[in-house]
Amino acid sequence: MKNIVIAIDGPAGAGKSTIAKILAKRLNIIYIDTGAMYRAFTYKFLKNNKSIEDKEAIKEMLDNTEIDFRNNHIFLDGKIVDNEIRKNKVSKNVSNIAKIKEVREKLVLLQRKIANNKSVVMDGRDIGSNVFPDADYKFFINASAQERGTRRYKELEKKGTSIKLENIINEIKQRDKIDSTRKLAPLTKTEDAIEINTTDLTIEETIEKVLSNIRERG
Ligand code: C5P
Repeated sequence: MKNIVIAIDGPAGAGKSTIAKILAKRLNIIYIDTGAMYRAFTYKFLKNNKSIEDKEAIKEMLDNTEIDFRNNHIFLDGKIVDNEIRKNKVSKNVSNIAKIKEVREKLVLLQRKIANNKSVVMDGRDIGSNVFPDADYKFFINASAQERGTRRYKELEKKGTSIKLENIINEIKQRDKIDSTRKLAPLTKTEDAIEINTTDLTIEETIEKVLSNIRERG
């Protein structure tokens, strides 16, 4: 059977990773969370107290960074960092790190390498537009900022973190603004992507829409 690539793009908190994970399981293919890769590098960057202006330091750090996925965990330099990369400090800084040319070049190469000769569901901001412009299926998952903020708020609340809903919504909007206005591979819906607004949809309803689209197109 031919390998397939399913690209899922969209703004923060729209439900991309939830959908992509379930989809990968149902189709028995690999899931790659590219946001987690940008987060992992951001986590390392923040830990090393480097300035974002220091391009040499960033290049050197990139050359000495290993990111990979094994058994549903993300590894940074051989260590699982699933929880660390979800910290609010990382969320607040990741979009400014993801703007850097050298960071994108390295991570995009890695994303293509991980997906090589495999069927994958990959989620992010530039998968359909830049990483895999020839992806077999492209989806753009969206939801209102209010709904996306509320979902994040509930997730954080479950983990025992208390942040005001208003602040979360503002942070999400700020991140979307940086992601969609940056020069390199900005967040965008390509013409050939199917847009699904999940504001009033359950997870199962969204999955059904994606799967029926895939079935229709064969
Ligand atoms: O998907 P998630 O919200 O975890 O992504 C974190 C951040 O990583 C995004 O806000 C964006 O700045 C960056 N990102 C990106 N390109 C991707 C995936 C994520 O620039 N393909």
